[in-house]
Amino acid sequence: MPAFICTTCGTQYTESAEPPAHCTICEEERQYVPASGQSWITPERLAARNANTFRQHEPGLIRITTVPAFGIGQGAILVCTSAGNVLWDCISLLDDATIAMIKGLGGLKGIAISHPHFYTTMVDWSRAFGCPVHLHAFDRKWVMRPDKAIKFWDGDTFALLPGVTLIRGGGHFPGGTMLHWAQGAGGRGALLSADIATVTPDRKFLSFMRSYPNLIPLSAREVEGIAASVAPFAFEKIYGHFVDRIITADAKQVFAKSVARYLAAIAGTARGPLE
Ligand SMILES: [Zn+2]
Repeated sequence: MPAFICTTCGTQYTESAEPPAHCTICEEERQYVPASGQSWITPERLAARNANTFRQHEPGLIRITTVPAFGIGQGAILVCTSAGNVLWDCISLLDDATIAMIKGLGGLKGIAISHPHFYTTMVDWSRAFGCPVHLHAFDRKWVMRPDKAIKFWDGDTFALLPGVTLIRGGGHFPGGTMLHWAQGAGGRGALLSADIATVTPDRKFLSFMRSYPNLIPLSAREVEGIAASVAPFAFEKIYGHFVDRIITADAKQVFAKSVARYLAAIAGTARGPLE
């Protein structure tokens, strides 16, 4: 039986003879069912029509994206360290070429995912590479394909590998997670922020939302919580969700000024009356 994938959000469900009746992820307020209705695809059909591309942004950091874009346009990032490789976030398409290339780079020690919109086919990836998937326990209810390889972590941080730390920022989802890579950016540190802190199109700021497609903002308290979560960490670069969304320098300062801008915007103190 196939494990069907929602074509709108990319989430894979437990094996079934027929496609599921609904997508729980898409029917929740942070996602959406398109006007054309719910539709499903099997992993085999997806692999037949799409392919993955690989871009190295710096030594040890390779972004993997699917073309044409699939789901919500998810990207994954392969972080290669001397202690092993981590897949940060996950994408629906796992094809033979992707398996061969990652195995050629030493395989995976683990998979860590920022929030449920990137859970996608995490169980298929876990089985292909024989590694666990690390999810924050606060988002446990959004796992649509349970598996013994899924390990839930609690608390504010989780040391995944030497120099690779998961940080719970919350916000977009209660368990919303970012990854800190100490050796990134030439040893000055890189933050892989997904859309817990999303890099804006001008690549000068970050912003923070409960729902990006449905434009639901976060509260001041939630954004202050995200800011506090990264305060102990040094980072020069931020890699966001999309391939071109990178803060290339002074990212710690960019984070601080972005939080200040957001808080002023929702407090109504950002501008004069005619601006
Ligand atoms: Zn969906």
